[in-house]
Order: sequence, then structure tokens, then C-alpha cells
Amino acid sequence: MADPIRLSEVEIEGHEKFRDWRRSDYSESLEEGRARLRRVERYIPGILAEVDRLEEYAVSLLREVIGAESVNSSPGGERPVAEIVARELRGQGYQVQMVEPEPNRTSLVASRTFGGAQHPEVLFYGHMDTVPAGNLSEWRYPPFEGRVVEGKVFGRGAQDCKTGVSSAVVAARVLAQSGLKLSGTVSVATVADEEAGGHKGVHQLIERGLLHGDYAVYIESVPEEVHIAHNGMVWLKVTVRGESAHSSKKATATNAILEMGKVAAALDRMEFTDWKPHALVPGGPYISVNKIVGGNKENMIPDECSITCDIRTMPGQTLSSVLADVGKILGDLRQKDPKLIVSHEVLTYGRSGEIPPSDPAVVFTQLAAERVIGITPKAVGVRALTDQRWALYDAGIPMVIYSCGTPTWHVPNEYITIKGYLDTVKILCVAALMHLAGEE
Ligand SMILES: [Zn+2]
Repeated sequence: MADPIRLSEVEIEGHEKFRDWRRSDYSESLEEGRARLRRVERYIPGILAEVDRLEEYAVSLLREVIGAESVNSSPGGERPVAEIVARELRGQGYQVQMVEPEPNRTSLVASRTFGGAQHPEVLFYGHMDTVPAGNLSEWRYPPFEGRVVEGKVFGRGAQDCKTGVSSAVVAARVLAQSGLKLSGTVSVATVADEEAGGHKGVHQLIERGLLHGDYAVYIESVPEEVHIAHNGMVWLKVTVRGESAHSSKKATATNAILEMGKVAAALDRMEFTDWKPHALVPGGPYISVNKIVGGNKENMIPDECSITCDIRTMPGQTLSSVLADVGKILGDLRQKDPKLIVSHEVLTYGRSGEIPPSDPAVVFTQLAAERVIGITPKAVGVRALTDQRWALYDAGIPMVIYSCGTPTWHVPNEYITIKGYLDTVKILCVAALMHLAGEE
């Protein structure tokens, strides 16, 4: 049975408050970004030095956050991480709000206003849940220890996304303590449930009107890439009915496993019709048959067999078009085999998302990164579902995905370099200054 909360986007798609994204022009964004960077240049060396000075604090915070196990959908949930973030940010004068739609599935927003002005609001964003550690024998160090070895911190979530969470906290602290004349709001959102689609995390913050911002960085990338577009995802359960009978009746009874053999093969081969290649998200939509359950007993013909398919959609492709394509395949099979009884059910749906490369949020992030690390990250799409879509379409927040991390998502020996971590904090601070540094 589907968890109804995992289907919330079925209703939302096409009715989003912010589906029509603001217009932007690349050269205007670039010119504006460069002007802002020039305006804050005199503050930057001091800010960068302050981040370096906080190295020990930053590393011990990250190790504590990695040590607070928060594997997605485990009973302890994200609460242990949220408590650390809340403690640190309250200590820096931030107002903290937490929501918990299910026990321990905590999401948090912390804000502090400077110079009496609500806007602009700069939002640092990360998720607190992780995927499981997987096979422990493949880890060189215990996955929840946060071992520091030769300038790297190892652990589950080091890249995805606990350096994001920690960088947000450290940057928020640096800005609060900077003594600079800031005008606007610094906010940190650390959320639950990203690895399962965000329905129990960011979606809950948005429903309660708690997520806002005029510029947001979702802190989880590699130095060379700003991620600005991503695929959507459908988990589809397909069930075939047969007839339960003694094995001796095999000549006449319908075997659900054998029927499913035909259905699974046809779905795995299917092509989607209603989509276009995307300039930034590579490839096309695809379906993979990834789970099967069927049969009850050694001496009974199975009366039921079901599979779960992982379908990844392209930006612009809708759930209804995907279901129409699946319906056509199943309809053709029924026509060839009148005894086939097959049904399908959506278990989870996550929309695709994209922000244009000309948007000021993209260009300002590229400029801030260039100023700190001397590399201009390329704006690219990713073949994965992310929380970006919620921020863009449902909360109207210009959000890009960026950090100086490592490509160690979901693998054993996940790690971050301490240099990359500090560079990330520096870039967040510079980007924030571009929005918040008051005129003098
Ligand atoms: Zn992540």
C-alpha cells in the first residue's frame, strides 16, 4: 500500500504556485553579480580569514553531526542532528523552529535578522537524513565515527549531506559574529527525508509556511558543478493475479509468476512518448524493474506476483503521461492474452525541477565560487531526484545546489576534504555578503 504522503505531488503537479519561474537575462545577472562582488570585496579577506580561524570548530561540529546517526526512516530519525543544529544556532542568536510530522522526523528552520530588515533573505539548505552505511566490511573506518585522516573526514553523510548541514551552521556563525553591517535575514534550513523524496521533510516546512528565502544554496555538490536541474521519479508497483491451485493443475490454472515474466519484460523494454531531450539533464527517461514478490508455497501455483519499477522522468514530463505510456503497454498485453489480470499503483512520485542558467541565483553562486576557489563551476543538471523542486515551485525560492564536496554519494568510504569544507563555508559567506552587505 502506498503511503498517502508519498503521493502528495500527484495533486500538486501543474498547480504549483511558482511553476512559472521569473525571467532573467544571463548578461544582466552577470553584470549585477560582478557589481555586487566589487561592492563587498573589501570585506572578503577578513571573512575568509575568520573561516580559517574556525577550522577546529568546523571539523569537530562535522564529526559530531556524522556521529549522530540519522539513516532515512530509522526509528531515531533526524532528531539527533536537528538538536545539534538547534543548539549551535541558538547560541548565535538565531530563532529556531522545528517541525516533526512523525516522531523523530525533525526538520528545522533557524533565522536571524540583521539591520532590522527582513529582506533579502539568504537561505543555507541541507538535509540531515542519510542512506544506510551498507556493507560495513567495505568501510576503512567506522561509518559513524567521522574519522579524520590526512585532511579528509570519512563517514556516512560526509558528502551527502552532513557537510552541507555543518557548513550552513558555520557560515551562519561567521556572519553573525562578523561585526559587519548586514541588512536582511540569514536562514538555515536542515530537513528530514530528502533521500526518500522530501515529503516528510521540506514539504512539511512549506505546508506550514516556514521555508522562505530570496536566494538559497542547497549545499551538496562538487567544486566544478552547480546543479540547477534534476530528473523526476516514479515508483510503480505492478501486480498480476493468477489462480491458486495444486501444482498438478498447471495445465489449466493461470500462474501469476509466469504471467509477470511477460509483463516485467515488456515494461523493462518500454519507451516513453511525451518528453523532449533537455539541455542540461543528460539522457532520457527510463524504467528499471527492481523488485519482485510472488508465490506462497512450494506445492501451490502462485495466484499473485508483483514487481516494483523505478521510473526516472525528464524535466517537462508529467506523471499522467508516464501512466498513459504504462497503460498502453499493459493494454497491449491484455489484448494478446485475455486471461491476464494486471493492475498498477503509484507508490511514490517526485517531480523533476529546474532553474534557468541565467537566473541571478545561479550566476551569483558561480561568481562567489570563482572568487574563493578560482574555478567557475559549470551549471549542469543531475540524473537524480533532489529537494530543489520543492523550493523552486512550491516556495518560490531561487535555489541552486553547490558545495566543494567529493563525488562520494551513497558509496562506502564517503568523505569530504577539510579544505573543500572550509571553501564551501567561505563561498556561502561571500554569496551572503553579495546580498546582505549594507551600503555605506
Ligand atoms: Zn543529498
